[in-house]
Amino acid sequence: MRVPILTLAILCGSLITQAQQATQHLLISGNLVTPDGVIPGGWLDILNGRILTISRERPEIPNAQTLETNDLIFPGFVDLHNHPTFNVFPRWTPPHKFSNRYAWRDWDVYQQQLESKARTLFADGSNFCDVDEYVEVKALIGGTTSIIGIGSNNPAKPTPDCIRGLVRNLDHFTGFYGPQVDHERIANSIGILPRDMDAMTAAHYRQSIADGSLDLLAIHIAEGLPTDAESAQELDLLDAHNLLTAHTALIHSVGLSPSQLARVHRAGASIVWSPRSNFELYGRTANVDAAFREGVTISLAPDWSPSGSDNMWEEIQYAHKVSTRDLNSLFSSRQLVEMASSIPARVARIDDKTGTIAAGQLADFFLVSSSSTSNQASQTTQANPYEAILTGNITAVDLVVINGIPIYGDPKLLHSLNIATEPLQICGTEKALNSAALPNGPFAGVASRLSQKLKALGTELGPLDSCQK
Ligand SMILES: [Zn+2]
Repeated sequence: MRVPILTLAILCGSLITQAQQATQHLLISGNLVTPDGVIPGGWLDILNGRILTISRERPEIPNAQTLETNDLIFPGFVDLHNHPTFNVFPRWTPPHKFSNRYAWRDWDVYQQQLESKARTLFADGSNFCDVDEYVEVKALIGGTTSIIGIGSNNPAKPTPDCIRGLVRNLDHFTGFYGPQVDHERIANSIGILPRDMDAMTAAHYRQSIADGSLDLLAIHIAEGLPTDAESAQELDLLDAHNLLTAHTALIHSVGLSPSQLARVHRAGASIVWSPRSNFELYGRTANVDAAFREGVTISLAPDWSPSGSDNMWEEIQYAHKVSTRDLNSLFSSRQLVEMASSIPARVARIDDKTGTIAAGQLADFFLVSSSSTSNQASQTTQANPYEAILTGNITAVDLVVINGIPIYGDPKLLHSLNIATEPLQICGTEKALNSAALPNGPFAGVASRLSQKLKALGTELGPLDSCQK
């Protein structure tokens, strides 16, 4: 249970109250996209942040809040690789490609255009909660309900309480393991080379995996061309530190050869694929064809919006294009959506809590409008619901629910649930945020403060979404 959201809800006078969420059922109907197929016209019975039951018939529960739709209902996306704080910046399009990430990270133009501005913005932690709210909204409008990486630029420890609101932060606060902040079981690391990780930190991760206190180490490995010497040594170094394990997710893996990917598989480790950012920075991406053939588990995530996608929805569409164009349609639409939901949930060992539409799961999901009304098209949608994400604009997201609380969506749907809202324009479409769920106050104020600060730094606030189809 995410007490802080509920507390905020009470403070802000919303009709959602802690007592209400604990006792009042919320019934939502739609075409439920479950691991066993679509349940057309199915019902979710939600109580206290959890999906109690899923059923074909409407449950007989007096006084339940009810939302009846014809939408597709998907599990929320689990983003296993992002640098969310950087997503306040506009797109960064370098004039040439790089051999590895150190080549651009050390480049004075990058330093001047992005890194130095980020350092100033994040220097004393005073902007953290504005940044946190902005980038989490940016993630959740594309269906993300869990994310990683937000705290890496935050100098304030412990992480401020605003981290508890909106999407779950897998490395800082999920609400899974009690009320404290920074008591999670997932760690996020920038890399294994000595410049990124010292021996003591490596030993700490090794010990935490051994004693069972760390479920997942997500770490950048081989973010560079296969011909790049620095990237080539990273897998060996990871292994030398005894960190190539079943509790390790290798972020990027662009430079890994088929035999190295086979080694990743033998160790029980997985990879996180971020094709858009890889293509924009290096002109190529991980050999997911070989990884797939070797049986490596592959999650999909955007990396960050300066060179990657704005959100998971768009990264799935980008990966679909790559799969069709370069990989002979290696991945089905269902696989691509699962690489962003149930698969990363399994990798992060939170699949008993989130990542699928099933009874007993936390109520983290989103509704997608089924645009067609014809019977034939509706049957096609039910046979392959995943196409709605692969081919649709994110304005099709009608509602995002996290921990049983509707956070964002179509204003009419939110109002029908008696939720006080703040309007939000997404790609020219009227959407709305649940006012009481915003951890740092009205979103317009957050965006306005950030705009001014970024302008003073000689840049501008990156848009919430680039409105790609
Ligand atoms: Zn990264």
